[in-house]
Amino acid sequence: MKYDQGKILSRRAAMVASGDWLDVTLLDHLARAPLDKTAIVAIRTDGLTAPAETRLTYRELDRRAGLVAANLRARGVGPGDTVSFQLPNWWEFSVLHLACLKLGAVSNPLMVIFRERELSFMLALAETKVLVVPERFRGFDHGAMAVALKAKLPDLAHVFVAGGSVEGAEDFTALLSPAPGIGQTALAPDDVIQLLYTSGTTGEPKGVLHTSNTMLSNLVPFADRLALGADDVIHMPSPMAHQLGFMYGLVLPVMLGATAVLQDVFSAPEMARQIAQESATFTMGATPFLNDLTEYVAGGGGATPSLRVFVSAGAPIPRALVAKARPTLGATIISAWGMSENGAVTTTNLDDPEEKATTTDGCALKGMEVRVIDPDGQPVPTGTEGHLQVRGCSNFVGYLKRPDLDSTDADGWFDTGDLARMDDQGYIRIAGRSKDIIIRGGENIPVVEVENLLFRHPAIAEVVVVGYPDERLGERACAFVRPREGEQFSFADMTTYLADQKMARQYIPERLEVVAELPRTPSGKVQKFRLREVLRQS
Ligand code: ADP
Repeated sequence: MKYDQGKILSRRAAMVASGDWLDVTLLDHLARAPLDKTAIVAIRTDGLTAPAETRLTYRELDRRAGLVAANLRARGVGPGDTVSFQLPNWWEFSVLHLACLKLGAVSNPLMVIFRERELSFMLALAETKVLVVPERFRGFDHGAMAVALKAKLPDLAHVFVAGGSVEGAEDFTALLSPAPGIGQTALAPDDVIQLLYTSGTTGEPKGVLHTSNTMLSNLVPFADRLALGADDVIHMPSPMAHQLGFMYGLVLPVMLGATAVLQDVFSAPEMARQIAQESATFTMGATPFLNDLTEYVAGGGGATPSLRVFVSAGAPIPRALVAKARPTLGATIISAWGMSENGAVTTTNLDDPEEKATTTDGCALKGMEVRVIDPDGQPVPTGTEGHLQVRGCSNFVGYLKRPDLDSTDADGWFDTGDLARMDDQGYIRIAGRSKDIIIRGGENIPVVEVENLLFRHPAIAEVVVVGYPDERLGERACAFVRPREGEQFSFADMTTYLADQKMARQYIPERLEVVAELPRTPSGKVQKFRLREVLRQS
């Protein structure tokens, strides 16, 4: 994988001097982890009548990661190669990331919702050498899809399936065969370790690159602020293929030598059951997770007495929800704001008055700065809405092969595309977005991609996709379509067409408005805000 090392090196001196980059990798932490302690409790429910648990000690986790690394090395995978894995929160996910670290390879986690269309682009851009998928998950045949992708992608040399067998691919278990150790790791703290695709606002996904230094420099102050340590039991219901799940469900527990409990398919009753069974103390997820768990527990379905902290991030958090969740779950509710590019940048504090968690998204973690500016780049007065920018240790090191998309300026300020207000204590509240995405239950819908694809439909003359409010998911997507003269376009036409294009199901708009005309500015730009108003009022 090729990336611009110059950019990393230019930040290095200042970051090391400030003590924010500690020049260690997760393998250094793994080497210090208590060997006989449970590292992972992976609880599989998909397709099963009763949950199936896999418990791995740190010794076993390390052993399996070593074997996977050795077997990948034997297949020619080495430093800088991309290993892509489209996996749910299964133990294989964590093992693969640690194996990549041992090899000096780049981990490229992929959301299980992605289909051939998204994956063809992502794997080609990453020049993926190895792809690992579940044989089947939530009724979808990932094995067959992966084999089909291999036939199309010349760099993709190896496909492995976990939890089953598929013709044309190897079983994941082959990676656990006895093999001689690979010896010294090739990994340095400034090497890129993770490639994570995030929804583009430009019509294609952007590949966010992180190093050990950028990632761990977020987790150290995060753990400090929330008083997390080796005794915590970290429950992760959010997909580890999102930055939230990856950093706080996979990397954080290993860094702390704590136990991670991994949930593969989210449901509130199962989450409550897992928290109770494993005495989980910490969990984190987007608003719908907090909402559903709170409703379930409030309805008498279960209790979460061990839970100390629930961090809610990734989407706007309704004030009333935070107020209800705290007494219901018996946990401190922490509001946070972050991005794949930076991890959690702002969080509230454990001892903040409740009003901070209900009305703000927190203040910056150590090593990060936030500011709110006007369109001319000038800081706005306290309480005024403006563009949110962030700077510091956990900012990513660039987008794969697209340096032009990086909005980090020469002074290190990254333009987030979010709008925010800041109070006089430095706490921010996200007020909206200047970037064109829709966040459906914490999942970003790449609006421009959906629009571009619909635009190619022969019956469509014009199309825009905008979000409309939804109580549970925050937002859903609606397509406004102007058909060509004499053409018809129905909701069924839209969903069938997008599914045939092998687009992720979650990206398909859930509402269609057929219109004769779209509202425009004098310069001809479609006024999406007007369409949002129309939807809000209907
Ligand atoms: P993740 O991988 O954590 O979901 P993404 O990079 O996909 O992160 O999405 C980041 C975006 O999510 C932010 O730019 C912002 O628009 C939105 N977001 C994150 N946290 C909050 C929050 N607390 N309130 C409102 N929006 C948020």
